[in-house]
Parts: sequence; structure tokens; C-alpha cells
Amino acid sequence: MKTLIKGGTVLSTTGGSAADVLVDGDTIAAVAAPGVFTDDAADQVIDAAGKYVLPGGIDAHTHMEMPFGGTFSNDTFSTGTAAAAWGGTTTIIDFAVQAKGTTLLSTLDKWHEKADGNCAIDYGFHMIVSDVNDTSLKEMETCVGSGVTSFKMFMAYPGVFYSTDGEILRAMHKARDNGSTIMMHAENGIAIDELAAQAVADGKTAPVQHSFTRPPELEGEATSRAITLAKVTGTPLYIVHLSATQALAAVAQARNEGQNVFAETCPQYLYLTLEDQLGAQGPQGDSFEGAKWVCSTPLRSKHQPHARDLWRGLRTDDLAVVSTDHCPFCFKDQKELGRGDFRKIPNGIGGVEHRMQLIYQGVAGGQLSLARWVETCATTPACKRAATALSGSARS
Ligand SMILES: [Zn+2]
Repeated sequence: MKTLIKGGTVLSTTGGSAADVLVDGDTIAAVAAPGVFTDDAADQVIDAAGKYVLPGGIDAHTHMEMPFGGTFSNDTFSTGTAAAAWGGTTTIIDFAVQAKGTTLLSTLDKWHEKADGNCAIDYGFHMIVSDVNDTSLKEMETCVGSGVTSFKMFMAYPGVFYSTDGEILRAMHKARDNGSTIMMHAENGIAIDELAAQAVADGKTAPVQHSFTRPPELEGEATSRAITLAKVTGTPLYIVHLSATQALAAVAQARNEGQNVFAETCPQYLYLTLEDQLGAQGPQGDSFEGAKWVCSTPLRSKHQPHARDLWRGLRTDDLAVVSTDHCPFCFKDQKELGRGDFRKIPNGIGGVEHRMQLIYQGVAGGQLSLARWVETCATTPACKRAATALSGSARS
């Protein structure tokens, strides 16, 4: 089956130009000057006049059916990937989540069971390592052989996903030796848990406290520490869901010094704020309304320059990728678990369907070029996707 997409403006990492695209099966066979292919070259012709034609979006950070705080994020691989497709995203990279006391390989099997045969688009996995021990360190190599080439660790969530600096160091040594990348949730979870406990003891239990107790300084500190550990071990590092000016500064400095450090941000940090969403009042002045926007890292204050700096980081490539951290929970019965104690609100919000459009809004607003839109949302994460697909983990 051949499809000709003609008359559109084809976008790439060098910008846009008039071109026609010939697709053979699920492979792009040619991008040619307008008119090179006639309509009878294809079984199906799509008229793209007045439209952009761009590579399929790749969302490198999603959580379908993810267990968290006694519940599960409520998109399945089926519903979540259908939503992604509607929004122009043709590949997701989700996370297999190792629970403490279980192995990485049984975890990967479990996640393939959830996803295989249920996805509307291509997919691959990163592996969350939450139990660093001799077995899981050894298993990292087998994971790489199975196409999982990135391992996510947490400096936050003590007692759940948290790893000590020593454990991170051990995993980084392994990653360096087997050619994989360490992804880091960089927030100082020990300090955050203390601030959160103090807030609750003072009777401050509303969702807005979620951000007040996770200040940007503690994201900046953890990001710097992760970068230092990566430097000491000689390991590639990818900082996930970067939200704060302080963290961006640390990444920019490391990149300027030539260190192999990358970072992503997410649309919520570019558009939503502590004041307008997390601090929102619901009907009858219910301050719990803000639970809808509890995610980690948290939304930041609009009175600080975080969002402006993140847009700049996307322009200058200090931020290489825009992903969503898609992890939706219903308000009723899920977010409501944290009524009276913001610490119990499941962390996460949705976005997999809207990422491409939201970042295009930055192009419309003059903050980003068309080329950077394509790079941050499609072609840069494609490098990761290609590595995964080659070794067989991305299945559709
Ligand atoms: Zn995440």
C-alpha cells in the first residue's frame, strides 16, 4: 500500500519546504520536490495543501497503567496510545516500574504483558530501578540486550523509589560499562519529606503545599548532584521533567563543559503555574481543586522566571526534548485520596494527546522555531527510539 502526501510544507530539523512524501507500507520511501510523483504512483493520495507535514511525534516519557500510591494511572496502553495518535504522536517510551523486592526481568515481562497487542502506535520501555542490588545490577545488561537502554532512578520518594547516592553510583558504573543511559528524577527527597511533614504538622494540608514543600532549590541541588555523580562515573545522564531555573542552570553549565548531560521539560511547566492551577479554588472555595495539578516535579510560581527560562532552554538546546510525563489520575476516588493530606494525592497529570499542539503554540508565539519544534518533539527523541527498535523492544 503506497500513500502520497502532496502539496504540503514538509518540516524537518532545518525548517520547512514545499515537498511531497511517498510512504510505502509504514516506511517513508521518498521526500521529493512537488510534482516528481504523479497520483498514479500511489494507492492513496492525501492533499496536504496549506498544511505542515512533519515526522511523527515521539513522547519519551509516559506512564500508562502505572501503580502509584495504592492506585493506577487511569490510561491503559490502549486508551493512552489512541490519544497519542490523535495528537500526532506515533511512538511513546513508557516506564517499566521495578517494585522493591522484585527483579528487573520479571518487571519487563509484566510491562510487555500490559502493552503487547494493545497499542495503537509504536512503543518502547525505559526501566525504573528502585531496588539496587547485585541481582538487579547484573540484570541491567540483559535489559540492554532486550532493547531497554535507559534506566531511571529517583533522588525523591524515600522508601518507595528513592536511591541513595551510593546506589546511584553503583548503577551509573554499570550503565557506563554497558553503554546505557541513566535518567534521573532529580529532587532532594529527604529534605522534601521533612518540609512536607512540617507543613502537615502545622495544619497546612492543601494541594498548593505540594509545590511549597518541593522548592526549586531542591530540584537544582539534586540536579547538580546527579550531574556530579555522572561526571565522576563517566556516565551519560538524562534529567527528566526539568521544571526549575536552578536545575536548568546546572544542566547548561555541564553541557557547556562538554559533559554528556541532556534534559527534557514538559508542557505543564511551560504553561501552568503554582498560583493559577495548584492554588486554584473550586466551587464553594474548595482549595482541594488544585489536586488536579499535583505532579512532580511540581508546578512553579509565575512570579519566578522558570517558564521563561525553560522556553529559552528549548531554543538553545540546553533542553533537548519535550515529553509529557503523561500520568493521569481521576479527581474522584484517585486525587481525592489526598483530601486532608496533600502527600497522599497521586502525582501526575495527562498530556500525551496535546504535546505537539502545545509546543506548536510556542512557534505561533515566537518562542520557538519550526525546526526546534520538530527536534524537541520528534527527531531528538527518535535517536533513543532508534536504539531501542534496533535491539527489538519497540513493537507495534
Ligand atoms: Zn514520570
